[in-house]
Amino acid sequence: MIEDKNPQRTSLEQLGEFGLIEHLTKNFDVKHTSTLKSIGDDAAVLDHKSNQIVVTTDLLVENVHFDLSYVPLKHLGYKAVIVNLSDVYAMNAHASQITVSIAVSNRFPLEALEELYAGIETATKIYNIDVVGGDTTSSTTGLIISVTAIGNVNKEDVVLRNGAQPNDLVVVTGDIGAAYMGLQVLEREKEVFKVNPQNQPDLDPYTYIIERQLKPEARKDIIELLKQLDVKPTAMIDISDGLSSEIMHICKQSDVGVEIYENKIPLDPQVISTCEEFKIDSTTIALNGGEDYELLMTVAQEDFPKIKGNPNLTVIGYITEKARGMHLITRGEQAIPIIAKGWNAMKNEA
Ligand code: ADP
Ligand code: MG
Repeated sequence: MIEDKNPQRTSLEQLGEFGLIEHLTKNFDVKHTSTLKSIGDDAAVLDHKSNQIVVTTDLLVENVHFDLSYVPLKHLGYKAVIVNLSDVYAMNAHASQITVSIAVSNRFPLEALEELYAGIETATKIYNIDVVGGDTTSSTTGLIISVTAIGNVNKEDVVLRNGAQPNDLVVVTGDIGAAYMGLQVLEREKEVFKVNPQNQPDLDPYTYIIERQLKPEARKDIIELLKQLDVKPTAMIDISDGLSSEIMHICKQSDVGVEIYENKIPLDPQVISTCEEFKIDSTTIALNGGEDYELLMTVAQEDFPKIKGNPNLTVIGYITEKARGMHLITRGEQAIPIIAKGWNAMKNEA
């Protein structure tokens, strides 16, 4: 489906492991004074002074987490970085360094890895991140990428999942459900392509949702915004598996209940129109989709004047006593229990 713009194929054996590492990492410059020693020694040396260190890692496996028939390698590299940075920001921390490890089979030429690394490089430029190490090895089958992100945060600023209190407001950034609907469109086009490879799909009506799937962004800007507004959320999590499973994590860890209002959930018009086309309920997608990488947080009532009217922050409900349970209040004012149904669960169902 994605046309091969790189007909040149240089085999990985030609370079050898060290040549490959050197080639792939040659553009990575050091941007942070906290990076004392980057790539090239047995380990990187970082100096985060008296701040607390945040570390998070994600593993992406071909045909489990991504499908190279419609995911361009450059986008994959970008996304592999973004999903990790999103976890750092969800701690209210600043991301500063990553390591990148890859296992790759001989079916990938050097040019493919160059594309992957071009995406990694773009993300590290935009988010101001140093690549300080990694590992490179061979794989007998597909491509595996693991990124570890490192960040730092003032002791007083760190936000966990367990601090939500009854009456806190539930706030979500941006809009949700788009990445999942983008995936639905890409999966559909893949099936069409299998039957008729000449078919040129018209993806214009879906540009936003496809971009949300292929090129997600992490909400670094929100961490800066919260600082500016002088708001420290009581709990926070990034939305990788869908709103319902994320709010359940906060409620379980904070020992509280929640009411979410269906009519407050922020949806992009393209999500609504695509849901109509696919005959799926857009609220179900917002609750159970995933990969939006927005932030879900709880904020004390007294901070409401500070966040009120901010276009980046939508209040979608409030925290209750645990005994009240976890509910979605529908447009018809019915209370429906919120149940966990992550992105993977949905995928298996299809
Ligand atoms: P070691 O033998 O100590 O594992 P390597 O030869 O694997 O060292 O790596 C050499 C240097 O290159 C190290 O600094 C390592 O962190 C870095 N590195 C290896 N692979 C990658 C990669 N895929 N991306 C970025 N840095 C890498
Ligand atoms: Mg190594």
